[in-house]
Amino acid sequence: MADPHEPTIESAEDKDVKEKELQEHLLREHSGQESIPCKVCLKEVPKSLARTFEGEDYVSYFCGLDCLHEWEKDDKEST
Ligand SMILES: [Zn+2]
Repeated sequence: MADPHEPTIESAEDKDVKEKELQEHLLREHSGQESIPCKVCLKEVPKSLARTFEGEDYVSYFCGLDCLHEWEKDDKEST
């Protein structure tokens, strides 16, 4: 039986490690490709996986649609 006083740190760390490994695996798969920082959260993402927003004379990169939508929202609100 599990000790109720024993925190389940091990499984939490295990999950972190797995996520880190997955990220590294993704980066390895796309190694040799240019990485660019997300415009919103500044996380480095392989260019081929990044979402892009093309303006008139610029291109913005995002790690995902969430950040793209976040940026679009902020952009509209600030102008
Ligand atoms: Zn992002």
